Amino acid sequence: MSAPPADARPAGRESDADVLVLGAGVAGLAAAHRLALGGARVTVLEADSRVGGKLLCGEIAGCAVDLGAESMLARRPEAVDLARAVGLGDALRPPAVFGGALWTRGEIRPMPKGHLMGVPGDPASVAGVISPDGLARIAEDSRLPATPLGEDVSIGEYVAQRLGPEVVDRLVEPLLGGVYAGDARRISLRATLPQLYEAARDEPSLLAAVRAVQRAAASAAAPEGAAAEGAATRAAGAEAPVFLGIEGGVGRLPEAVAAAVRAAGGTVRTGVAARALRRTPDGWLVECADGARTARAVVVALPAGSAARLLREAAPTAAAELERVEYASMALCTLAFRRADLAEVPRGSGFLVPPVDGHTIKAATFSSNKWQWVADQDPGLFLLRTSVGRIGEPALLERDDDELVRLSLRDLREATGLAARPVASLVTRWRAGLPQYPVGHLDAVGRVHRAIAELPGLAVCGAAYGGVGIPACVADGHRAADRVAAQPGAAAGAPSAEARMDT
Ligand SMILES: Cc1cc2nc3c(=O)[nH]c(=O)nc-3n(C[C@H](O)[C@H](O)[C@H](O)COP(=O)(O)OP(=O)(O)OC[C@H]3O[C@@H](n4cnc5c(N)ncnc54)[C@H](O)[C@@H]3O)c2cc1C
Repeated sequence: MSAPPADARPAGRESDADVLVLGAGVAGLAAAHRLALGGARVTVLEADSRVGGKLLCGEIAGCAVDLGAESMLARRPEAVDLARAVGLGDALRPPAVFGGALWTRGEIRPMPKGHLMGVPGDPASVAGVISPDGLARIAEDSRLPATPLGEDVSIGEYVAQRLGPEVVDRLVEPLLGGVYAGDARRISLRATLPQLYEAARDEPSLLAAVRAVQRAAASAAAPEGAAAEGAATRAAGAEAPVFLGIEGGVGRLPEAVAAAVRAAGGTVRTGVAARALRRTPDGWLVECADGARTARAVVVALPAGSAARLLREAAPTAAAELERVEYASMALCTLAFRRADLAEVPRGSGFLVPPVDGHTIKAATFSSNKWQWVADQDPGLFLLRTSVGRIGEPALLERDDDELVRLSLRDLREATGLAARPVASLVTRWRAGLPQYPVGHLDAVGRVHRAIAELPGLAVCGAAYGGVGIPACVADGHRAADRVAAQPGAAAGAPSAEARMDT
């Protein structure tokens, strides 16, 4: 009798795991990697046919591009360190051009320097983006009585009270839109800018609080006593690569991490959706479409809705909190132009668009300018991508792909004069792409973690909790891994789980 194909083998050995990690987004993979390197036997189960979640490589006009996340904050070490650990260190690339821009008040204007998510520390720095009346309103900040912050406050409401609504509409909204696709007047100051929330409790004005945060960042960036001013400039993103990409696409990271997990003895399975989670006398049972698997510990690295469904029975309090997490959907339109067709090649890395200006796109990234590796693939092409869709704009995403491309081209023409027809276009839809962090988010996350902490061998991680960026998700994956590894039975050297798969 011939041996069964690898995928048809009896399930017993393959699921012989100490830890099951559910979800192979970057958070789940980071957790699995940490556990596997620590010697635990890990199995990752991913519902999709590929690993990576919001990280995805694709191709347009013969060129590799990112169709999801495209850059990693380098000021935080976690994502960059993970890339190095899985062999992508040599592929890390800084952007070729620095400094973003805003398309507002009828023209593309350089992004002001020295702001925190659009909140300025110096009114003069935002002249042009903000009208003369708006600048006068910012100056009132130092004369206003203190605004109570309470346990949390929306960044939009707070900034509008201190600096006037124009700062929110023209600076904070587009910056937040780029990260959360969210509504500044609902998003939590404490969750998105925790240092500013803390500083604003002590400082007499918001401008002073921004400057205090910048000073602290500068001294943290200059431990050897380097000139604080220079460090402040670098920390504000003017010189050093605050962000890094990966040649070939940040979307290469998940495959590389999955390969490292396998090399360390772990298993990564795609096309396996977790459907239910139950406690057993010595661990957990996960019901999947193709059967059930048991393990001593489980890391739930899923978007909030999927996590809520899974946790309903075992952790109803956590599930109820997670059910309430809202997500913004968006679409990216990747466009390829022949350079020969462009009257003028757009300059810079792209621009953000405040919703108040009434345009469809919320951002444009000139990929061929921003990433040298993109340009080098075909010097005759110019690649860019637009981003459409914020929270509260579901109707926009009901438009078909051609219409989203047409609307993008209309805005690009108005903003930059780009009138050429693309030689290729690709629309990538990210339904429920980004979780929203409304006022009170951190308290809700605290309640989830407290509920989960009562259940030995269980951890949750991912973008729904402590940060949506790749480094924050990696850090959360590591935290979840450490939690289950610290518990008896789950970690390396622990007694083997009696893993099985009931088909
Ligand atoms: C369009 C876009 C652009 C972005 N750009 C950037 C950027 O440039 N830089 C940056 O730092 N961040 C960016 N982000 C944010 C960042 O990419 C995400 O927040 C992060 O990748 C989320 O990782 P995660 O592991 O928490 O979740 P996900 O990536 O959502 O992974 C969760 C995984 O769980 C799987 N899954 C779901 N249900 C089940 C189930 N029942 N069983 C098994 N598996 C299941 C999913 O298929 C998915 O693979 C961007 C996000 C989007 C949407």
